[in-house]
Order: sequence, then structure tokens, then C-alpha cells
Amino acid sequence: MSVIAFAKNWNGKFKGSTYELVSYSKKLASDLSVGLVVVSIGEIAEEELKSLGKYGADRIISVNDPKMNILTSRVYADVLTKISEKENASVVVLNDNNSGKAIAPRISVKMKAGMVAAVQELPVSLDPFIVKKRVFSGKAFGHVQIDSPQKVITIAKNCFGLVEIPVESVVEEYIPEVDTALFKVQVLEEEEQKNKVILSDADIVISAGRGMRSPDNWGPVEDLAEVLNAATACSRPVSDEGWRGHEEHVGQTGKVIAPNLYIAAGISGAIQHVAGISRSKCIVAINTDPEAPIFGVADYGIIGDAMEILPRLTEAFRNS
Ligand code: FAD
Repeated sequence: MSVIAFAKNWNGKFKGSTYELVSYSKKLASDLSVGLVVVSIGEIAEEELKSLGKYGADRIISVNDPKMNILTSRVYADVLTKISEKENASVVVLNDNNSGKAIAPRISVKMKAGMVAAVQELPVSLDPFIVKKRVFSGKAFGHVQIDSPQKVITIAKNCFGLVEIPVESVVEEYIPEVDTALFKVQVLEEEEQKNKVILSDADIVISAGRGMRSPDNWGPVEDLAEVLNAATACSRPVSDEGWRGHEEHVGQTGKVIAPNLYIAAGISGAIQHVAGISRSKCIVAINTDPEAPIFGVADYGIIGDAMEILPRLTEAFRNS
């Protein structure tokens, strides 16, 4: 038996969320008294693979196939299912990011395994297998039981943290036969947004709402984001108005994010907005209205005009 963890790489590099996934899966495997098998797909340097050893990845299966460098969910799901069956997986663990969300349900169907997305912590109980996740737009927690012998879960960012258990990783190369029909849908090219931190992976997010009054006022938001190497985000009305692109909209109907630091400027803090940001480690709110609901969820609050405060923060960080 084993726990399988899918370690996605971005152009041959792992991110903090991958290391957190390995930390989580190592603890889960140890609690279940089974081995951990970390799976990497696509071309990647051995040194990068071995960096997973710091978090307890003693066994890594590398599908080092250039044909699979670009993530296609059908192909990746097929590969992960084959490896999970070969390794007699009891639980398959993926990050709850775009790729995890696309691949996990496919694996679940292929393996006839029950699946729970965006799990918040280690299972509440192993037998029966019960996990905890947020429900009703983050207003409550639900305990969900998976009864099938095999399970698939995706884990929310920042749900476990990094735990160092340094081991010497053993890397095994394995290229499974993949049905060529699955390659029929091909991503020919991926273009990364230049000089932009991807919102779903960002450690720091600077977000702004209708309080900024006009799309022309986003300069201070972008300046602070640049200084802090942060992603930019916005409330829903801002993207509905076309002030910012929909890819920046966070909340119940937008992206759900969990950065280490979320700065909300000119955002009232409606429940639908908070649903997308409440897992942030630290929330800083800037608002002219001391009664704004955002202060109810913020760790730090600044009562004031965002157009004044943001440039002052940028200046302070630039000089620090
Ligand atoms: P407002 O509510 O207009 O708030 C603006 C804030 O800026 C106010 O608190 C004001 O005091 C402050 N302000 C004004 N001037 C300044 C200044 N100069 N400096 C600092 N502060 C200032 N919303 C989302 O964001 N995400 C979602 O996913 C989402 N999904 C929804 C789903 C449904 C079904 C529904 C009904 C609504 C949803 N909404 C969502 C909308 C949500 O209810 C709120 O209307 C929205 O979040 C408000 O956006 P806002 O805070 O930018 O604007």
C-alpha cells in the first residue's frame, strides 16, 4: 500500500506548495503506516527532484518524458492512475490548484475512488476515512467520509505548512504506455504572463475594490505589488465593471486563494468576497469606513484613504 503525491513542476521547478504537499503526504503515509511515492511528470533535473527529499520524499517516480512537459489533464490523470494502481495506492494526494482540480476528478472516476477537494488538514479519522473541508462558501466546516477503498484528495494551500524530514531520495524513471488517443487534445503552447505573479500561487496578494473609484487609480496597487513581488486581485464588481480582468476576481464566484499576506484596499468585505480570502494567513485591510465588515476578518486594519496609504506603504517597503 502507498500514498501517492503528485508533485507538479512549473518549467522544471517546484514551488512552495509542492513541498507542502510532500510534507502533508509524508505525515499521512506515516499515520497510515504505508510508504510515500512522489510522482513527477515531464522533463525535470534530478537535482530538483531530489530537493523533495528535504520534506521526506524517499521514493520519487519520475515520468521524465518531454511529450508530457505541457500538462494535459487527461494524459496526467492516465499516468497517475497507472502508477497508483501499480503502487497499490490507498490515497492519492494533489494540490488544490488549477491542475489538481482538473486531474483529481479524472483519477477518481478511473479508479472508482471517492474524492474530496480542498481538504483543510490531516484526516480527522483514518478508519473510517474522514476529512475536513470548508462548506457554504467558507461559513462552516464539513466532515466528509470517503468509504471507497481508494481515495483521492486535493489539499488547500497553507493547510499544513512545511515540515522538514530530510531523507536521501531515490529517483526511479518510469514511462508508462499512454493511449495515443489521449494526446488528441494537445496544448501546443503555453504562454506565461510576463512579469506577473500568478494569483493562485502568490504568497502576497494586493487586492482592491470599488473604493478605488476608477480603473485609472490602480497605479498605487500595482506599485505596491511590484515592490512586494505580489499578485494583484480585485473584488467582483471591479471585474464586472471591466476595471480589471476576471482572472483577478476573488471570492465565492471567483478564485479562492490562501496567500501568506492579503492586503485589501477599498474592499468592504462582503461575505461573498471573504469566502475567497478567509484562508489567508494574514489579512490587512485599508478602508475609510471604520465600520466596514472587512475589519471583522482582518488581522490588521488601517482606517484611511487607500490612495494615500498604498503609496506610503510602497515607499516604506522600497526603503526597507
Ligand atoms: P463596495 O461594497 O462598494 O465597497 C467599497 C469599499 O471601499 C467600502 O467599504 C468603502 O468604505 C471603501 N472605500 C471607499 N473609498 C475608499 C478609499 N478612498 N480608501 C479606502 N476605502 C475606501 N464579491 C466579490 O468580491 N467576490 C465574489 O466572488 C462575489 N460573489 C458574489 C456572489 C453573489 C451570488 C452575490 C450576490 C454577490 C457576490 N459578490 C462578490 C458581491 C459582493 O456581495 C459585494 O457586492 C462586493 O464584494 C463588493 O465589492 P467592493 O467591496 O469592491 O465594493
